[in-house]
Amino acid sequence: MWNIDEFTEAAAITVEELAAYVNESQHGHAPVLRRQPPGELADRLGLSDLIAKGGITPETYRAFLRTFLAEGTRLHHPGFLAHQTASPDFPAALADFVHGATNNPMAIYEMGAASATVEFEVLRWMLEKVGFPAGGGVLTHGGSLANLTALLAARARAVPDAWEGGVPGDLVILAPPSAHYSIARAASILGLGQRAIVPLETDELGRIDITRLPEISGKRVMALVASACATGTGLYDDLRPIGEWCRERGVWFHVDGAHGASALLTDRHRHRLDGVELADSVIWDAHKMLRTSGLAAAVLVRREQDLDAAFKQEASYLFYGDQGFDLIRRTVECTKAALGLKIFLNLAWRGEEGLGGYVARQYATAHRFWELARRRPGFDLPYEPESNIVCFRYGQGDQAELRERLMRNGSFYLTSTELNGVRHLRVTVMAPATDDATLEALLDEIASLRPGAPQDQTAALASQA
Ligand SMILES: *Cc1c(COP(=O)(O)O)cnc(C)c1O
Repeated sequence: MWNIDEFTEAAAITVEELAAYVNESQHGHAPVLRRQPPGELADRLGLSDLIAKGGITPETYRAFLRTFLAEGTRLHHPGFLAHQTASPDFPAALADFVHGATNNPMAIYEMGAASATVEFEVLRWMLEKVGFPAGGGVLTHGGSLANLTALLAARARAVPDAWEGGVPGDLVILAPPSAHYSIARAASILGLGQRAIVPLETDELGRIDITRLPEISGKRVMALVASACATGTGLYDDLRPIGEWCRERGVWFHVDGAHGASALLTDRHRHRLDGVELADSVIWDAHKMLRTSGLAAAVLVRREQDLDAAFKQEASYLFYGDQGFDLIRRTVECTKAALGLKIFLNLAWRGEEGLGGYVARQYATAHRFWELARRRPGFDLPYEPESNIVCFRYGQGDQAELRERLMRNGSFYLTSTELNGVRHLRVTVMAPATDDATLEALLDEIASLRPGAPQDQTAALASQA
């Protein structure tokens, strides 16, 4: 049994340490990331002893937690400009804590009626935003699984007996090369193989060229995939004409809105998703722009029965007493976390308007970065951003090496991506703490890292020391 006093004490320590950690991170008072080698870190954290012998106490737990937090990556830090992982808001963090203590995996309604009901209502809200009044959905552990689930539903529509009989050889998926890699993975997992992916023509920035959509003969098109927005560039495909093209031909239209569907919450950016309601399926990650921890992703379909048709598994011990509310029929997972609560508590605290305001602000900050960088010599920005993702190059040198040196200094964490076969630096504005001063400091630091620049030599000396 839990010792309730011990739990209360440990929980209070957790809250104190997390509060200090987030506060310090938001103000940029500690490095945005640390990369100690795992051997050294395991020693510092005392892992092998604790694993073998246990015996942590509230005070040693505090010390452990402090080191654990300090040695990780700080997503609340203004200089965190790297991956599309959410800067989590605290209501969602509370939901994770509640789930951790109650553990109501609720793919079967009776295993957690409250958490299942919260999920239904969150899904209803998401369906309404996307424009699927007669739609259905399910929350799943991440966008990759969500893409797989949506494409499984598409496969069931194209080949209803594929579940029993397997996949015929003439099935293809149309997708731009800029689509997230989970689409290609899904093609193989679903038994189509990589051969089945027909690359769509794009412009030089990877957007689907709507004037060059293919005429396919002798093949069955299972789905066409568009991005809203694309992971690498943050640019949106032109959904309406693509959706109309699909509708005329009876092709399943899948919109990967993992990152960018949250723009539906802002008047200013909703037009980027114009035509999304023409889709047959949409995915939408809450752990990117709705500020929940990983993972919480929605699979949304325009016709509810399409999702029910996706899985045809029978398991008599689970499915015998279905009250019509069991989400297990729609998921790869059997045990599934109470994902809806994280999204719900963020909504309940901030309102749809608060979350939309966050999205608009992050998009505006990325746009600001583009404006500021363009004015400086040596920066090359190939497009005007449409989201909170911006790609750029500085100078002609090795951009990956530039990124590595920038990260060594501990103030900024960026990613990089290839655009048209050329490596670019990539900024994703996730933390609410990132402001104009952060952006100017980043640009200054990049400019100072030019080979031979004074600060670079200091950094080189520091790293030798
Ligand atoms: C992040 C992303 C995914 C994958 O989502 P995960 O939750 O990381 O599995 C899929 N598609 C797009 C467009 C993304 O940006």
